[in-house]
Amino acid sequence: MNCENHPDKEGVAACVSCGKILCADCRLKLVGKNYCQECADELVTLYSDKKEAFSESKPIAGGYGKLKPTGVPAVDNTYEKARPVKENSSNRFLLFCLIFLVILFFIALGLYIVYLLYLAPFYGDLSNVINILLTDPQRIINFLID
Ligand SMILES: [Zn+2]
Ligand SMILES: [Zn+2]
Repeated sequence: MNCENHPDKEGVAACVSCGKILCADCRLKLVGKNYCQECADELVTLYSDKKEAFSESKPIAGGYGKLKPTGVPAVDNTYEKARPVKENSSNRFLLFCLIFLVILFFIALGLYIVYLLYLAPFYGDLSNVINILLTDPQRIINFLID
């Protein structure tokens, strides 16, 4: 029997997948088996698709990277990518808290300066001023406005 692609050449093998007769030029050996060009292409495409699907689905199944799997580079990448995002958001939260505390500090400082400059000479010590603020705030507001 002759090659199906080259009728003038003698067939030396048959594709294990589709059974096509192949000459020495057309025969492709993969893992010790004979394949035609089309079946070999199909196999390689199938294999790379599977590989992609595997490396894409694995990180999702692996969760948020608490368990760091070894030997699968795709998972390692996600682990490295997931961490900085988490650190950034907690840094932002800390920064927000810090700004909030600084603003509180300046408000307290401002009130204390107001007390020292305007209230202390007339109302005496701080507890007395706080007492007036709690019982009769209008009196201090009127005093500060006038
Ligand atoms: Zn074939
Ligand atoms: Zn051939």
